[in-house]
Amino acid sequence: MRLFIYCSDPREEADLETKISQQLLVPNEKIMRLANCGYPMVLAHPICFRDGAGWLLSQIDFMINNFHPEQAIFVGHDCGWYETVPSLAETSLFEKKRDIANIHKMLLRRHPYQAFVSLFDVSQQGGQVQFEHFAA
Ligand SMILES: [Zn+2]
Repeated sequence: MRLFIYCSDPREEADLETKISQQLLVPNEKIMRLANCGYPMVLAHPICFRDGAGWLLSQIDFMINNFHPEQAIFVGHDCGWYETVPSLAETSLFEKKRDIANIHKMLLRRHPYQAFVSLFDVSQQGGQVQFEHFAA
């Protein structure tokens, strides 16, 4: 079983739940989900999001240690959660992608045996759903 960690922004252009289901899952695949606004980017800014980052890390550790997912997949997007912190409000798309790569590296150090995959939603509005593989 695979673990997906992604932002729960429900707006149509951001709806990762639907995009993941349509593009990344095989039919009838059962997955584990960690979805909340700003996930997984809170891990890239643990000082700004101390509570959220700590909570998400504890959830990831629990799922990996107890359920042994064959992959943990971090799905980033042009996340509006950055705008909730004034010092991060001007974060560029390039920097958001870099954050996903940094999360990947950090979690690889924490769980060196685990297969992590990092993806970034690069869908064009009204167009084809696409994910860019974005790893360290
Ligand atoms: Zn988001």
